Amino acid sequence: MTNQDEINRWTKLAETITDGNWLDSDLICPKCQSPMIVFSYTRNVPPRYGLFIRCMSCKALRHFSLGNKPPNFRDDLVLPEYQKLENEAIRFASE
Ligand SMILES: [Zn+2]
Repeated sequence: MTNQDEINRWTKLAETITDGNWLDSDLICPKCQSPMIVFSYTRNVPPRYGLFIRCMSCKALRHFSLGNKPPNFRDDLVLPEYQKLENEAIRFASE
């Protein structure tokens, strides 16, 4: 079960990645405190974007739906495997 503290930490982590100084921040898994965090932006139906965060240690995966282009968005931070997941979610939602 995900408690409120953990949910808050996921939200904070997502904000650090999208709006904060993520290169100088320690990205720590909200669930297991591991630093093995991988993230990917995704392109959704305009103007929406997505953000996936995965912990390579405990395998936790979270998806955030963003209403606008995040300030820290970069094309090289869009990983094909996560864009594929987003595309499948978009297709599922439109059926
Ligand atoms: Zn973890």
